[in-house]
Amino acid sequence: MDLQRIRRGVFWLLLLSGWVLSSSAHAAESAAKVYVLLWFDTEDYLLPASDDAALHLARFLSGEGIRATFKVVGEKARTLQRRHRTDVIAALQRHEIGFHSNFHSTQPSPAMYLSQLGWDEGVQEFDRREGPGRADVERIFGQAPTCYGQPGSSWGPQSYGAMSRWGMKVYLDAGNHVNLNERPCYYCGILNLYKLAHVLRADLNRPQELPQAQERFAQARKELLAEGGGMVSIFYHPCEFVHKQFWDGVNFARGANPPREKWKEPPAKSAEETRSSYRVFEEYVRFMKRFPEVRFITASEAANLYRDQVYEHRFTAAELRRIAKAVGEEVNFQTHADYSLSASEVFALLNTYLDCMGGADATPLADQLTVKKTPLGPTGRIPLLSEPVTTDASQFQRTCRDVADYLDKHGRIPSAVWLGSRPVPPEAYLAALARTALLRLNGEAMPENIEIKPAKLAAARYVSDDDPKKLWGWVIFPPGFRAPALMALAKNQAWTLKPAILRGVK
Ligand SMILES: [Zn+2]
Repeated sequence: MDLQRIRRGVFWLLLLSGWVLSSSAHAAESAAKVYVLLWFDTEDYLLPASDDAALHLARFLSGEGIRATFKVVGEKARTLQRRHRTDVIAALQRHEIGFHSNFHSTQPSPAMYLSQLGWDEGVQEFDRREGPGRADVERIFGQAPTCYGQPGSSWGPQSYGAMSRWGMKVYLDAGNHVNLNERPCYYCGILNLYKLAHVLRADLNRPQELPQAQERFAQARKELLAEGGGMVSIFYHPCEFVHKQFWDGVNFARGANPPREKWKEPPAKSAEETRSSYRVFEEYVRFMKRFPEVRFITASEAANLYRDQVYEHRFTAAELRRIAKAVGEEVNFQTHADYSLSASEVFALLNTYLDCMGGADATPLADQLTVKKTPLGPTGRIPLLSEPVTTDASQFQRTCRDVADYLDKHGRIPSAVWLGSRPVPPEAYLAALARTALLRLNGEAMPENIEIKPAKLAAARYVSDDDPKKLWGWVIFPPGFRAPALMALAKNQAWTLKPAILRGVK
């Protein structure tokens, strides 16, 4: 073999091995991933050491090449500015900024004031009280907060309406109010990362238990990889690294609301205790980082990973048939091969179809129908039907036209659907609509009479009942706080609930 041929051989060998390496790297990139969303509720505006804790954590993570999500309280942002902590602000700016209410624990907290209000007034009031804090966080950090999550367990559905106004796409927190099989879901058109199967923390005050926390993470990783990838949510508060007790519990517990001049700093950890807490956290992060499939993501990256592709979908007649068939007397979301549909989207889609079919030109619009926006749930309730109601084809078709206009103007499901002088609940209307649409999709004429049978919103079971132990245990609430009207309003929004599907990186 002459030198020339050897050189050529080596050249091809290198080219081939380069190709093998790059294609195996590519295969690894498209394989299942464990996405770790690391977030910090940055809220203590009393203990100055908590500013240093935020600085320490932000710098440590930047050094590790990790971007976290810091959900900042409005008053915390203003306090950092007042204290001239440009170093803290600059360190946090390298991460993603979220929002965590304006004052967090001063009374009344969001669930309390929202519990007295309906939908529209609640959205306005949430915007009035919390909006200025959101604007301050944006002004001080120079970036619009990408997500919101409530103080403590002070949750209310109207906050989602305000978030849509603010252009926020992600609800990021941990709680029990909405729980779709402990998976990421869409609620009110917003990605809800809330009650998740894998919310994992290492106890900062028990370094001896770190191995167990690491074991829990390793176990979650295994489970998530087995199901094709998924998300782990991990949260801390910078103040936990420096205090012995939460700042707000010291001042605002059980409904207390002292004036600003009486606010007290919480008791602080010793320097050694703080160092130990940092060690636990840093070892935990480095442990997770060692797994090749682990990717640390921010809230907006999660929004991209779980982006809703229903808006890009054009529905064929065959799909509409499948969708109509799947609607029963138990109204729920639907999961199809490539997309999921909330009950409100099914409602809008089938109503548009039947409305178009009844139009003057009667052009079948299947293949062209789209979901442009997720309609919100109804903001009121009429009693469920106790027995069927019958109407004729003409009235049903006219009602269908009226409902189409209602959806268009109000962007929500009507609380009552009027068949002339007879109101029926939207669930019952949807079930009848689906049966009628299916007939039309199969090429049949409108039936002479249409029966509207009792139906119920099965999706409402994923929104909690007003259970004080499960929902309202936060120490800041006044004793005995309940919010039945708020949770009823939240159940109406189960019309918008559906699974969020993991898409991968775009
Ligand atoms: Zn908080």
